Amino acid sequence: MKDEGVVKHIGLSSHTPSVIHRIMDDVEIDMLMFAINPAYDYGHGDYAHGEVDERAEVYKRCEKDGVGITVMKPFSGGQLLDAKQSPFGKALTPFQCIRYCLDKPGVLSVLPGAQSVSEVDELLSYYNRTEEELDYSVISSFAPPQANGKCVYCNHCKPCPVGIDIGLVNKYYDLARVGDALAIEHYKTLEKNASDCISCGHCDSRCPFGVKQSLRMQEINAYMDY
Ligand code: SF4
Ligand code: SF4
Repeated sequence: MKDEGVVKHIGLSSHTPSVIHRIMDDVEIDMLMFAINPAYDYGHGDYAHGEVDERAEVYKRCEKDGVGITVMKPFSGGQLLDAKQSPFGKALTPFQCIRYCLDKPGVLSVLPGAQSVSEVDELLSYYNRTEEELDYSVISSFAPPQANGKCVYCNHCKPCPVGIDIGLVNKYYDLARVGDALAIEHYKTLEKNASDCISCGHCDSRCPFGVKQSLRMQEINAYMDY
């Protein structure tokens, strides 16, 4: 029906990475609804399907294929906002959860649930929050071992003395490696990129996820210069 022009766009909603990949192999979809939050990415909760890397592959594939992700359950049904219910024993704020989702490749929008107009107003105050309030790097303290050493694009390691947007450079690199040609183009338009890194090590000492970022910058530069 899409070929005939009857159906204009196809959206898919699923909780399972293997199902999403199987459908995307056969059908050109335009958007995906997917449940994303740190709990699901780290294997906690009813809809926590797929390992952390498997889930990350969905995000990267969507970005590469031009499929916009709309996030459902950004607070894990509210559990992440309550220390007693959170699988990590610590509460996050709605704003940290929203930023976490928006940092994922492919994500265009986040749909939190709200029960009143005042809750909507509160959520919309996301746009007025400071970088400190949006910083979710505390999740590194409960990340599983397989997430260690992998950049989550959070930019907690800023500021870089030469002005590299470290999270963005890493995101473009990861996307380039899965075949996203546009990511390479975007990378090349950055004012500062991995070739400007002076290996000062500031990011290494600041990264709560154990990423050896100064080495990674060399790796990224070699790849992107190729
Ligand atoms: S290197 Fe670490 S702190 Fe910097 S963006 Fe990546 S994960 Fe975040
Ligand atoms: S090591 Fe490179 S990327 Fe990291 S803070 Fe220093 S100059 Fe910036």
